[in-house]
This record gives sequence, C-alpha cells and structure tokens, in this order.
Amino acid sequence: MFAPLPGKPDHDTLELAVLERWAREGTFDQLRAKNADGPRFSFIDGPVTANKSLAVHTAWGRTLKDVFQRYKALRGHHQRYQNGFDCQGLWIEVGVERELGLNSKREIEEYGLAEFARRCRAVVERSSAELTAGSIRLGQWMDWGRDYFTFSDTNIEYIWRFLATIHERGWLFRGHRATEWCPRCGTSISAHELAGSYVDREDPSLTVRFPLLDRPGQAIVIWTTTPWTLPANVAVAVAPTAEYGRLRNGDWLAVERAGDATFEEVVRGADLVGLRYEGPFDAIGPGGGVEHRVIGWDEVSLDEGTGVVHIAPGCGTEDFELGKLEDLAVLTPVDESGRFYPEYGWLAGRGAHAVAEDVIADLHDRGLLVASGTVSHRYPECWRCHTPLIFRISDDWFISVDDIREPMREANRTVEWTPEYMGKRMDDWLVNMSDWNISRRRYYGLPLPFYPCGCGHLTVIGSRAQLAELATGPLDGLEELRRPWIDDVLIRCPGCGEDVKRITEVGDVWLDAGIVPFSTLGWENPEWIDEGYATGAAKGLTTADLPDHATWEQWFPADWVSEMREQIRLWFYSQLFMSVALTGRAPYRKVLGYEKMLDETGREMHGSWGNMISAEEAFERMGADVMRWQYCAQPPSQNLLFGFGPGQEIQRKLLTLWNSASFFIQYANIAGFTPDLADLADGPTGDLTPLDRWMVARTRRMVQEVTDAYEQYLTVNALRAFEAFVDDLSNWYVRRSRRRFWDGDEAALRTLWTALVDGLRAVSPIMPFRAEHLWQVLVTDVVADAPSSVFLAGWPSMSAPDDDLLADVAAVRRLVELGRQARAASKLRTRQPLRRLVAEGLDRAAPYAGEIADELRVKQVVFGPVEATELRVRPNLRVLGPRLGAELGKLRAALEAGELEELEGGAFRVAGHDLGPDDVLVERTQKEGWAVAASDGATVALDIEIDDDLHRQGRVYDVIHQVNNLRKETGLELTDRIDLLLASSDADLLEHADWIAAETLALSVGVSDTDEIRITRR
Ligand SMILES: [Zn+2]
Ligand SMILES: [Zn+2]
Repeated sequence: MFAPLPGKPDHDTLELAVLERWAREGTFDQLRAKNADGPRFSFIDGPVTANKSLAVHTAWGRTLKDVFQRYKALRGHHQRYQNGFDCQGLWIEVGVERELGLNSKREIEEYGLAEFARRCRAVVERSSAELTAGSIRLGQWMDWGRDYFTFSDTNIEYIWRFLATIHERGWLFRGHRATEWCPRCGTSISAHELAGSYVDREDPSLTVRFPLLDRPGQAIVIWTTTPWTLPANVAVAVAPTAEYGRLRNGDWLAVERAGDATFEEVVRGADLVGLRYEGPFDAIGPGGGVEHRVIGWDEVSLDEGTGVVHIAPGCGTEDFELGKLEDLAVLTPVDESGRFYPEYGWLAGRGAHAVAEDVIADLHDRGLLVASGTVSHRYPECWRCHTPLIFRISDDWFISVDDIREPMREANRTVEWTPEYMGKRMDDWLVNMSDWNISRRRYYGLPLPFYPCGCGHLTVIGSRAQLAELATGPLDGLEELRRPWIDDVLIRCPGCGEDVKRITEVGDVWLDAGIVPFSTLGWENPEWIDEGYATGAAKGLTTADLPDHATWEQWFPADWVSEMREQIRLWFYSQLFMSVALTGRAPYRKVLGYEKMLDETGREMHGSWGNMISAEEAFERMGADVMRWQYCAQPPSQNLLFGFGPGQEIQRKLLTLWNSASFFIQYANIAGFTPDLADLADGPTGDLTPLDRWMVARTRRMVQEVTDAYEQYLTVNALRAFEAFVDDLSNWYVRRSRRRFWDGDEAALRTLWTALVDGLRAVSPIMPFRAEHLWQVLVTDVVADAPSSVFLAGWPSMSAPDDDLLADVAAVRRLVELGRQARAASKLRTRQPLRRLVAEGLDRAAPYAGEIADELRVKQVVFGPVEATELRVRPNLRVLGPRLGAELGKLRAALEAGELEELEGGAFRVAGHDLGPDDVLVERTQKEGWAVAASDGATVALDIEIDDDLHRQGRVYDVIHQVNNLRKETGLELTDRIDLLLASSDADLLEHADWIAAETLALSVGVSDTDEIRITRR
C-alpha cells in the first residue's frame, strides 16, 4: 500500500521530517561514500561573510551551489563539499564597533585591540553557526563542521607566501597617492570596493571668485561641489584653446558657460595661463605659503561649471596626477578621520563634510561667493558604513598590475562564463584595472607581513617559519597571526641587522578569499595534515584538514564556481589575480554569475523599508522548496524579484505534481498495484497502449532536456522542461487515461508510476524535500530493496526517446488546444457533443482521431482542407496604390468579384498581377454554423449545428456530471456501486441508461417521481 497524500503538503512538517530522516540515516554520508570512486567534480565555495544570519539573498547563491552539487552527485561525481566563511575585514569590524558603541579608531584603540579582536572572532563564531543552521534548513548539503575560515593562520600564511612572491617579482610598492577615503573607517578604499558604491546625493554647488594678483579688480571664477577642498586649492585650470571672457564686474569665465552675457574682453585660455591669484583661504592655512596660478589643461570640461577648474592635488586623484606634471604643491587638509589639521585656523578639528555651510558663509562675507545652491549628483560612499567618501593623499601598499594584466586576460579567455556577458565584464574590468591597493589602516584583518627598514631594505615575510627565523625573540606570545599580537614581534633586518617593526596596516579582505583555491587545497604542502587548517582563530571552529600538494593537483582548478555578478571585481577577480600570479592559470573553468535580488515589486530590500525578508520567515511562510524553486526559475541575467506573492504562485503550481501523485496512489491502492524497480531502468514493457508509449517517450525527453539544462548551469531551463512535462503528464496522460485507472489497468499504473518517479528524480536537485518525500511514498516504502533516498538512486535512465511519437502527440495536443479555442469562441458548453471537426495542417495527429474525438466530444474527426472559412482579399493601398496607379481599379473589381488564384506562400494572382503577401490584406471569416481557430499554419473547425439527438446527448453528459458530484458530496468511495433515479423531466434520457450506468457505477437506472436526482448506495 502506498501512503495516501494529504490534499496539500504542509511544507514545514514535510521539510523538517525529511531533514530529520537525512540526519538519522546519514544520507549525505552514504551519498559521498557511494561516489568516492567516481569522477571528480571540483566546486570551490566562495566564502560568505560571517557577520549575520542567513538572508534570502545569500540563500539564492547557496541554493544554486547545492542544486549543481546535488546534480553532479546524482551523476556519480566525487566532490569536496567544503563550505567557507569570510572572517576578517571591515564588515566584521564595523559590526563590532556598533555593538560596542565605538565611533572612531581612537575609541577602538582605547578599548584595546586584543579584546576587540576577540569580539570580532565571537561575531564570526556566532554568525557561522547561524549561517550553518540556516543553510541546513535550506537543504544545502555541505561538509558542515569542516568549513574553511579565512582568518585561520594557515590561510594567512598562504597569503604571506603570495605577497612574498609578488615582492620577489618586484610588483609590490608603496604608493603616495590621492585615494578615495572613508573618514569614518579611517582607511582608503580600493577601486574594486568603489565600483557600485555611487549613490545619488544632494551636495552644495558654489561658484567662487579668486582675485587675480596681476590684474587688480579682476578675478577668475571657479565652480565646486566640495567646499571643504577649497583650503587645499593651489591652482586653477583653463582649457588653453577655449575662449574666456571678462564680465563688466571683472570676473573671468569661459564664454561657452556664460549664456548671453556681454564681455568687456575675450581671450584664449592660453592667454590666462601663468596669471597669479589670491587663494581662497590663504589667511588661515598653509595655502598662504603657496603661489597660486592659472594653468592650462586639455581635460577642462566646458560642459559644467564655469570652464575654470579648481585644483587641489591633495583632494582628488586627477588633481594629484596633474599636480605631478605641473609641479604643484600638495596640501592635505584633513587627517585620517576626515578632520581639518590644526594649522587650518577656525576649520581645525572639524569634519570635511560638516564645514560646508560655514565655508560658504565665510566666502560670502569676504565677497568671494558668486553664487551658491545645491546639486544632485552621483557620489561614492563607503560600501561598509555608507559614509560619503573624501579624497585624501595617503601612503598605501600596492601591487602593480602592469605585468599581470595581459596574462589575466588570457586566463579569463579560457573560462566559460554563464551568462556570457559576465566574461566580457571581467575582461573590461581587467583592461581598466588600476594597481591593487592592498593595505587598510584597520585592525581585524590579514596582517601585511611588511617590515621596511630604515636602511632601505624591505623584508616581506612568507611564512610563520620565516618569521620565527628572523624574529628577535621567541614567538610564544603570538596567539594568532594577527594584530595586536603580531605587532609585538620585531625582526632583525637581513640588510643591516637592525630591529624592524611590521607596518601596522592590514590587508584587503579580498586577499583572504582570493587565496582559497590554494590554502584549502594544500598547494605545495608536502604532507597532508589532519585538522591542519584549524589554526589560529579558526581553532575550535572547524576540523578542516590541510591537504597535500597531490590533492591540490587533483582539485585545482575548480570545475565550477558561482556567485553574484558583483563578485567579478571582487572574489572572481582576486582569485584570478592570485592564481595567475602563482600558477599562470585561471582558478576556475566555468562560472555561473547572477544578477541582483529585489523585492517582488522591484525595489531594493532594506531593513528600514520593511521589505526585507529573513530566511527564517521565508522557511516558515513558503518553505525551502518554494524558495529554491523561486531562485531556480530565475534567468541569471535578470534581477530576481523575490517575495511571498511569487511564492504562493509556485505553491499552487507545485500542486499539479502533488495531485497527480495523489491520484496515482488512490487508484494504485484500489488495484493493489506494486511497482517494479526495473521499470525505472528500461521503462515499463509489455502491453503498452500508444498513449503509454508516448508517456514513456515524453519522460525520456524531459530527462534529456533537464540534463542539458543542468549541464549548461541553467536551472531556469530545467524548470521550464519540468513544468511542460508535468503539464503533459497531468493534463494529457492522466486525463486521457482516467478510465484505465478506474479499471486498475496495470500498464497505465506502471507507466504513470515511472513517469512520476523519474520526474521527481529530475527535479530533486532543485526541490529536494518534496522529491525526497514523494520518493519515500512512491518507492522506498513500497518496493523491497529500493534505494532509501532519491539522492542515492542515481540519475534517471538516459535512453533516447521516440521522436516521431512525440511529434505525433505534440500535433494531437495542438489540435485539441485549437479545438478548445474554437469551442470557447462558439460559447457552447464543453459537455455538448458536436457532430464534426475538420483539421488542416495537423496530419501527424490523424492516427489519434479517436482520442481527439473523445477529448473534444465530437462524433467525427476529419483531416483535410478546412472549408469553413471564407477568404476575403483586399488590396493594400499604401503599397499597391503607388505601384499600380490606374490599374488599381481593375484589380479591385476583380478582387470584389472573387476572381483570384491562390499561389504558394500567401501570394495571389489577380487580374494578371502577381501580388505578394505584403501587397494584400487577407481575412478569413467563419462561415455560418462553424467555429474556427487557427495558428501557425494549422486550422481547426468545429461544426456547431446541434440537432435533437446531439442535444439529448449533451443532457446525458450533464446528468453523469451531476451524479458523480453527488457521489462525492455524499462521501461514496470511488468503488461504491449505486442505484440511480433520474429526475422525472429527464425520463427521455432512459434510452441512454446503459451509458449513464457505466459512467456512474449504477447497477440500476430508473426515473423518480420528483424533479431531483436520487442515488442510493448498494
Ligand atoms: Zn566606512
Ligand atoms: Zn636594514
């Protein structure tokens, strides 16, 4: 006996029961053991930042990873299943700062770096446990407990090794540059962190005059949106070839920017170059010691402002570069927290963005302000804390990209990207990438192992062993390879023998993740070390091993990785960089990227907007299967609009499969049917009807299509194929075979069982819970020696389907669909039998005339030309008018008289003219008494004239329908027999008594004396 299914699954109960079963039976371990000798499939997990619980965004990526790992496992592949956590960097630090109420770096230092580091680790510990629990609930199968944590000493050592290699090649340098800077976090922000962090902002817009020293009474006028940079002004730039004019009040600006103003004097920009002017804040700051002058610059834009550009090399990247060319002074007005240095008078100690109003007021008081207002523009903010960035000169550590750019592009060309355009995005990024700024002035991160000595020698430590060797004392106090402990270790300079301190900077967090294909796979590690990855801060959080180099050889590069599109410039990038630097090869063969997640109305999800959905809430309200379905139904090239609305839609959709399984179970139990596992291998054999054979072929086709989709990493195609299959199964096969199920037909039951089970298997990677549950009900519980899990059953048989048969039935389904349309257009009840159907252009369906007649309730199905329509052809005057001129009248007359000859391809010959399809307007109208539907070269016409006989038959169908409803309402079993009394007004239907009896399981049919139908159970 099959266990009956409830009308609707309760997803929470079902999913938790499946999880419990997997845990109890060790299903995942069994699967791994089963595949241990299989071909390898190497997936490398991109680490998730361990500072939160599972969000629906993260669950998307985790689902895709799980889907393809499950699929590959079903195909027998041996896999590693190592999950990763990203554990250092600003995300974590900013969270802890908030938790502790710390607002600046000074407060962190006062709090104590050791305790701060422990707090950061605690966040990782808590979050990694939460992420693990959420991922398990989602159904993700990973080697939980053996995860990699990027803050392990092992991971850090691998990065050191990479940095030492880079240094040996001469790619490492310390740069003095203007960079984007977060004043709150007190650190520079690198180019890859910057992309995508531009937001719309309202900022001040001001026009300011700088009095010209050489031309009393005259001034040059600039425009800026960053008033705080004015105290750092050292020059203004003009376009040498543009025209500049002097207004009556003495102000100079570009003619093109002045509207219809009248000028006293107009000169070329070049003529202004060299003029000296008074700086706007010379009185209060170091600007007073600088000679300000007008310089020429070809890049000056005449599209905005005044055509005169304020230059502050200490506050802007371009300004800084220009300053080098022009030998300009560099004034850096603000410190790392974005506050003015003490020498800036009344500005001292105030924040860069906070002084705008006072600067404007001050300029106004001194008569220097020409105009002020606001401007809306795109401005970068810190991607971690959302503080608007400033530009600042700082000394950072860089890796030069000149030598690696082309090798990286070359390596990227070996990678297969899905969607394809993402590979192009990566190439664009590589073409434009600037030197990699790897240093951050922070605390909880990779300690950069750089020991620059006063003698000029730079030591870059490549391993803990090397550190021990060069250290001035023992490393006993070195709890972790991390600040603050590492800051106490001094080394002896190999150049001069002096003691040297490490720089205090930590590394870009993308170094941590980028090294993973090396650090987790044991690259160049001579011997496998059990739990060798559980070092430093990772101790106690994981039991991950450090494999040996042979293992790395086997698993590198990854066959497949998958993350969001933004990772192109982040993890995909840093991995590629480090891998090309160390091995000259790409670290992955195939990449699946995907776009962003928005809410179901298309808005970004934000905690403060109330439209954020936690994974926990989603598990509760829609269940993991429905979430996974929602993720997988999404083309990866488009944003996913995630929500409960689409979730309900999917729940409804999934009921079709559920109901078909439930229908099967009902009739299989009545018939005492026991399935045979061998049917899954070869398909059911024996006395199959053409419809059964079609269902077998249709199942094979579905398996084929779903397999192709998984192989292309396109879950959306897998789901499309699966949905079309379920539609064919329930709306054609089951529907057309009902009577056979009532009769307990063995071939029908075998066929449906096989189709259902193979359907589950094909969709199981996407929808593991329902698939597993139904597998239990349909297979494990009823078949001796069946695999205990759908995931231990391998992939469905890949036999080729019978294509001709599929094409025939596809034509039948199309014909029926058109027949239904025609019927709907005629407004006749579907139960009303009709005399005749004529089908044209669907000859493949001819052998199935009986099925079609039955399905559409027509007496006769004819294949041949449909003459139920009248052809009406009119000239297309817009085309023919100009072409035929006076001939048009003749043509028109011929068409009206119906004198035309139809030619191939929609052409006509009329009155001696050959007219193409564009020359005429063709209309086919229905003849009286027919209902017609047509599409793509196929036409179906229904004869809708109804005589008394047909009318009576229609009433018989109505009665059968009513009786069967009554049977259900009165709770009769499907097999119960009845005595039936028809309503007195239906006495004339007794001539069809046998028919009615057969359709309602009636043992007798009579007529009652009332106007109601009565049934009695025997
Ligand atoms: Zn910040
Ligand atoms: Zn030295």
